[in-house]
Amino acid sequence: MDRHLDQCCAFSGQVCRWIVNAGHNVSDLASDFVTLWAIRRGRRAPSPEFPWGHGRAETLGTFTVSGMLLGGAALFAFHSGGQLAELIPTTNTAVHLPGWMPHHHHHVSGIPLDGWALALAAAGWSVKEALYLATAHLGKKLNSQVLMSNAWHHRSDAWGSAVALAGIGGAMAGFPVADPIGGIIVSTMIARVGWHMAVSSARDLCDASVDETVRESLKQAAHDALVDSYYSSSLRISSVRARQSGPYILAEINVSATRAPTDGDARLPLHVVEVIREKVRAVPHVRDVVVVFKP
Ligand SMILES: [Zn+2]
Repeated sequence: MDRHLDQCCAFSGQVCRWIVNAGHNVSDLASDFVTLWAIRRGRRAPSPEFPWGHGRAETLGTFTVSGMLLGGAALFAFHSGGQLAELIPTTNTAVHLPGWMPHHHHHVSGIPLDGWALALAAAGWSVKEALYLATAHLGKKLNSQVLMSNAWHHRSDAWGSAVALAGIGGAMAGFPVADPIGGIIVSTMIARVGWHMAVSSARDLCDASVDETVRESLKQAAHDALVDSYYSSSLRISSVRARQSGPYILAEINVSATRAPTDGDARLPLHVVEVIREKVRAVPHVRDVVVVFKP
């Protein structure tokens, strides 16, 4: 989204473009910085001060970066809306815009309609898309939501360049609306991704449960541990609670007795606890397993 602020226009087009670029670079840097901080902090070992580990730092980073993504999408949409309003044909040459709409007067004619502009937009697109692919690949490998959200920031920049490309091409072909229409479509797509990530990280911050399939596989793993043991008929897995802490899953397995103890002493043998923990830890991304016995 290179052009989101170029309606600032007490300045000439060129100065304006400089300001917009500088602003965008600062926001890119901030997003990268938040991501780096969240990744480093989020993967530290648990400490007395943070006994459950620092995974939530990544969640906080995801929430912040997706907020920036949403903000960028909003600015982009706002800008495209202003452009579109400007292009709406009127009988008079004076276009009446509501006072709050961004407006600038040399956008279409201000684009240098030459090969350089096209090449630059195409290069911007491919570089940013490559950055998206590399970051997303790493994000999947490390199970890192914050890397995924930063990857989407790169992709949103890539799409911004694609819109610029479409805008230049459109203007050359006599369809100046290609730019604002493309901008509105792209900003909507980016906003969807940003919204999804913001909601999911906010849910994790509020201790929402992991999704049903993950919870089922945790329960299954715990169940398997019991089935293999001597206690398969006297103990059962009564419930499972689990939440996401950045890249990690923190799980609690509740075990209960299937019948009243005959010797009057209901307990959970230690080695059974160990087997349950081991099996549940084998489920991908599980970090911490607590086994609770409720006779
Ligand atoms: Zn950016």
